[in-house]
Amino acid sequence: MTNREPITCQDTTWLVSDSCERELTAEEKADLHGHIATCELCQGASKQFDVLFQQIRLFFSKDIQPGGDASE
Ligand SMILES: [Zn+2]
Repeated sequence: MTNREPITCQDTTWLVSDSCERELTAEEKADLHGHIATCELCQGASKQFDVLFQQIRLFFSKDIQPGGDASE
């Protein structure tokens, strides 16, 4: 899909924490979503962070922009 390096479980934790305080970038959300989708550990953790992950799902549902990658 992309050439970005996959994020780690620790990155995922940080992104989830950050999502409380600021809106994640589209790239961060994509990384987070992609990691959780493939990582059993984080799928388990997501149950503990259920409220946060619900917010993240809302983010995904409202502003996914395919191909709208910012060149940063
Ligand atoms: Zn993970």
